[in-house]
Amino acid sequence: MKTNDQKKRIAVLGAGESGSGAAVLAKVKGFDTFVSDAGTIKIKYKELLECYDIPWEEEGHTEAKILNADEVVKSPGIPNDAPLVRKLKKQGTPIISEIEFAGRYTNAMMICITGSNGKTTTTSLIYHILKSAGKDVGLAGNIGRSLALQVATERHDYYVIELSSFQLDNMYDFRANIAVLMNITPDHLDRYGHCMQNYVDAKFRITQNQTPDDAFVFWNDDPIIRRELTRHGLKARLYPFAAVKEDGAIAYVEDGEVEINTPIAFNMEQEELALRGTHNLYNSLAAGISANLAGVRNEDIRKALSDFQGVPHRLEHVCDVRGVHFVNDSKATNVNSCWYALQSMTTKVVLILGGKDKGNDYSEIENLVRQKCSGLVYLGLHNEKLHAFFDRLGLPVADVQTSMKDAVDAAYRLAKKGDTVLLSPCCASFDLFKSYEDRGEQFKECVRAL
Ligand code: ADP
Repeated sequence: MKTNDQKKRIAVLGAGESGSGAAVLAKVKGFDTFVSDAGTIKIKYKELLECYDIPWEEEGHTEAKILNADEVVKSPGIPNDAPLVRKLKKQGTPIISEIEFAGRYTNAMMICITGSNGKTTTTSLIYHILKSAGKDVGLAGNIGRSLALQVATERHDYYVIELSSFQLDNMYDFRANIAVLMNITPDHLDRYGHCMQNYVDAKFRITQNQTPDDAFVFWNDDPIIRRELTRHGLKARLYPFAAVKEDGAIAYVEDGEVEINTPIAFNMEQEELALRGTHNLYNSLAAGISANLAGVRNEDIRKALSDFQGVPHRLEHVCDVRGVHFVNDSKATNVNSCWYALQSMTTKVVLILGGKDKGNDYSEIENLVRQKCSGLVYLGLHNEKLHAFFDRLGLPVADVQTSMKDAVDAAYRLAKKGDTVLLSPCCASFDLFKSYEDRGEQFKECVRAL
């Protein structure tokens, strides 16, 4: 038992960006703080912990130093069924996420974004609009620096926060002033007991604790979101968006104009949007509504939506080589993302795809491949499934099991002037690359060396 004059103890599990930030905040707020990581801790995080005189351990957990904590901050990467997490739950120790913890120590306006696809793009876009409009804004969550570290060491009026379902899992009292839910498609089901409803419920936690003063921005045509709206007793004001004008939607495109009706009427030419493709229209609408709600002036929203540079590895234009356009969409690690990429193409496409298949069903993109592709390059250690599905379409095919350079050379040979070579692999990258970023960087290097 702790007596009242003993400091409360916080144990932080996992010392990555979020864990080390949470530890600094806990220390700054006067908690007896301890950090434990089952793997090795990166040097920069060790230095940060040492700078704040926070004790840490790596390559294993000393249970006694964690089970005696009053509260535990868990990194989103650690599954809920990890043995230590189970023990903590069994003895009733509260386990929270870094965002939940940091939310207790700031009164800033919280703009939070989740969804199965489009989180990073929409988060970056909202941040860009607020920043270019001169607002004092921090970028946090899955991208940028941890929210906790910013709350501990700086002060902002607004935070734009990308939230994964794993972060939402351990959030209880946190309140999003503006919650954005892009879409819900099956993902990460291995972490949700292979039950889609568990994953859906995790996503909807973004709306918990919202009041009538808050806003919920969402894609009006997502069948799952629509079905769930009534189940969750939402109190926030609703801001649904859609690609075209339709019942219920407060933002859409009509006659080539992007329109937002409320709270402040806004319009701009769709042609002026920096990001192309239907999926990016959704991202631009969600960002436009959020900025509108945050009080950004229409002219500032218009300017920022038209000069946004995009996020690397998401439909990123690399360069043109002798009339062939090269586009890097290495982040497209599932078939749905590739569908949106192909759908946004306005020229014939030589598609580079393949990698570590996560049980893909390629029939989703079959029609688009038939309509848009003039050639296919299979890039992966095991291309059998790609051969079995796509060879029958009769397109020229190159099989590359070696390197990005060979894939780029092969795609360039297949492309005609005016075509686009699109890297949108539908697969994870781990067979030949370290990460999707590594795959995209190698693609860009090889293209620039052509
Ligand atoms: P996330 O952070 O949710 O993974 P990103 O913004 O990084 O999403 O985009 C990842 C990929 O998902 C992109 O390459 C694009 O092909 C696709 N995508 C982006 N926005 C959307 C959207 N609103 N709906 C469906 N797919 C999208």
